Amino acid sequence: MAASTGTLIYLAEPERVERREYEVPDPEPGGLVAEVERANVCGSELHIWRGHHPQVKEGVLGHEVLCRVAELGEGVETDYAGEPVSEGDLIAPVYYLTCRTCSSCLVGGFHLCQNAYRYWSKSPDEPPHFHGTFATHYYVHPDQYFYKVPEDLDPAIAAGANCALSQVMFGLDEVGVEYGDTVVVQGAGGLGLNTLAVAAERGAETIVIEGVDGRIERAEEFGADHVIDFREHETADARAERVRELTGGTGADVGVEVAGVPDAFAEGISLLRDGGRYLEMGNISPGQTTEFDPGALTRKSIDITSAVRYDPWYLHRALEFLDSNAETYPYDDLIDAEFALEEVEEALAKSDSREVTRATLLPNA
Ligand SMILES: [Zn+2]
Ligand SMILES: [Zn+2]
Repeated sequence: MAASTGTLIYLAEPERVERREYEVPDPEPGGLVAEVERANVCGSELHIWRGHHPQVKEGVLGHEVLCRVAELGEGVETDYAGEPVSEGDLIAPVYYLTCRTCSSCLVGGFHLCQNAYRYWSKSPDEPPHFHGTFATHYYVHPDQYFYKVPEDLDPAIAAGANCALSQVMFGLDEVGVEYGDTVVVQGAGGLGLNTLAVAAERGAETIVIEGVDGRIERAEEFGADHVIDFREHETADARAERVRELTGGTGADVGVEVAGVPDAFAEGISLLRDGGRYLEMGNISPGQTTEFDPGALTRKSIDITSAVRYDPWYLHRALEFLDSNAETYPYDDLIDAEFALEEVEEALAKSDSREVTRATLLPNA
């Protein structure tokens, strides 16, 4: 490939981005260079942009992405599911590394790879420059899983697979959601909607707690069987009482925290039956605290688990889930604003103020 340049969006300091141009690198053996088709503005991207991520403070923004293969490195003939891959194919990459040699990888905890962000937070001055997806190009390293996108799947839908949906499928496996379970979901943002759909497809009955009209409607479209409106059930006690009413007096089998506020964690325990299971996944900023009643936890004997990132093969499952269920749930409605790469500030600001729900950048349109 003749040397050409690409543009990337660099976060120099919280809430200040710069456009930078670099030469598009050649892929090393086992890696590939892709052109970015669609890069979504995810909630955790905003979190990084505001300067709240514990590890990623500066660097090239972007992780939720759909790419088109521009050049394959030597030896790359298939994706990580063994599907033949060639230049021009649409792929979804996992947004972090799994090195297979660190202490976490050595015991099979690929989602906890100690080197997950080895490249993401690097200065773009360091080759291969294109460490994030708010860019015209994206570099996929050896040991960075990627999968071909199913042929008939709408690219706009596939672009969300490598973050929220994969995260949810992994988290629900960690906590264990079975046929006939009642699952209470705290919050109907991107993670919450995916939780509702995946839980419904597993044969669970779902209850969602939310207080914003548009989100409530969307939650119903994504399979929520019951809605508890914050505005009608104003206290934690009232919400717990409502969950008991909906579950024959016992409380839910499983709770999923995807509201991302510390108080939701404390409240979540009160929504469950004795011996219930709880997944903490929405609170991702260390240092924010809540009052918690450990005695109530012990008395109810609740199992608590948490999930950050996902084992990389979950992205393959997520793409298959979308391929099967893109018609069942209105995934195509989730992206409500498209921006050119030059409009990145606007995309970030409007996402931050919630003027748009899910923005996507189209860097090569
Ligand atoms: Zn994300
Ligand atoms: Zn590792």
